[in-house]
Amino acid sequence: VRKFPAVLLASALLAGGHASWAESLAIFGATIIDGTGAAPLKDGVLVIEDGRIIAVGKRGIRVPANHRRLEAAGKYVIPGLMDANVHLFLDFFPLTLARFEDRVDEIVIEASQIALKNGLTTVFDSWGPRADLVKARDAIRAGTSVGSRIYLAGNIIGFGGPYTASFFPSASEALFEGFVDRINARWQENVGPELLWMPPDEVRRQLGKYLETGVDFLKYGATGHGGLEHYIAFSPRVQRIFVEEAHAAGITAQSHTSSVEGLDLAVEAGVDILQHCDETGNDHPIPAETIGKIVERRIPCSLLANTDKALAWFAEQAENSPAYKRFITRDINDRALIAAGAEILLSTDAGLFGADTVGSAFWASIVPPEDNLLLLGEGHFTWLRAVEEKGMQPMDILMAATRNIARAYGVDRDLGTLEVGKFADLLILDANPLVSADNYRTISLVMKEGQIVERDALPTQRLLSQDPSR
Ligand SMILES: [Zn+2]
Repeated sequence: VRKFPAVLLASALLAGGHASWAESLAIFGATIIDGTGAAPLKDGVLVIEDGRIIAVGKRGIRVPANHRRLEAAGKYVIPGLMDANVHLFLDFFPLTLARFEDRVDEIVIEASQIALKNGLTTVFDSWGPRADLVKARDAIRAGTSVGSRIYLAGNIIGFGGPYTASFFPSASEALFEGFVDRINARWQENVGPELLWMPPDEVRRQLGKYLETGVDFLKYGATGHGGLEHYIAFSPRVQRIFVEEAHAAGITAQSHTSSVEGLDLAVEAGVDILQHCDETGNDHPIPAETIGKIVERRIPCSLLANTDKALAWFAEQAENSPAYKRFITRDINDRALIAAGAEILLSTDAGLFGADTVGSAFWASIVPPEDNLLLLGEGHFTWLRAVEEKGMQPMDILMAATRNIARAYGVDRDLGTLEVGKFADLLILDANPLVSADNYRTISLVMKEGQIVERDALPTQRLLSQDPSR
């Protein structure tokens, strides 16, 4: 039995059953774009029972009499969108953590609700405080909280916490050490930078312990991060151990890389996903040889793709500060990977940020004023337009945001397409997403596991989010 917040139950009753759950219903008359790459089905019917799709076809297919009918003529039904790379708790700046240290799991829920409201029915959190993410994930899974379905990695193996050289070391100088140590430990647990010193068997032992703590996939740092991103982190044989141990535990392994050789090492280690494989620093795009391997071995590749407008801002900044050149190099990589036919995944790195952070001069210096990928609830729409600008075909864009991600993470038995047997995770759009990527914004309904999401009620609590339009 699913439990729902009273506010949703009340609004469901007031709306005459418009917000409902575990209901049998059929969507009539829309164009169904199922995410398999098949041609759109006009005037289609999609039948849903117990949260799953039980039939898809032309008008005229048999629909059981007890199913409520949802008329959607002139609209478009697509699979629920996914983001292969978010960070539901990313505002780790001291002001936020000092205020909300004990409520991080609630912020994770809030973030997942903003994602869901904006069409992301599933998100993959590739770096964050594991225990808080597990708590939020499990509450959503149990139906005690509403939110996007979460899969999580916890720490990036080998990375330090927020106030270390991996991220924001200068913060530690201004803060009391008890707080710094506590926050760092919450991210690192037993798989922080100390693993970089260990022989393979000890790494394997520590990793084994971590894989028993409820993580859904493994992400390791093939290179460092922050000021350390140009260094290779783990030897080839240790990188192979990460992949082996993840597979032995029945989960996927992915790499964090930030240089061309880091990327090639991860390819050779046999990872299942190359996370942000387009990030190779300021000056050196991915060599043709490595792109060839990625395409030939069909290794899914997530891109942090920026729009032309954002790239123009980055190019302007790069005139004074070479650090921004990385975004130009990313664009070169994105275009090369798309043109070569690599398996692309939508990825934003997005998170939820409080007013103090978004209003800071620091923030204004690191992200463009518009088309900012990092804003959860907004970044995925920006991404969809960005890859359209780079020449990706409309059906490929749709699959990069749905089926490809489900497959890459090994969850395509239940998710990613509108096929019989899968969860009824879907969006109804007012305009055709295959005509313009901006049409992904025309969401008129979000459904997750057969339940219509009461979008206006989300987020149910605002701790970090300020803007009521998000
Ligand atoms: Zn990463």
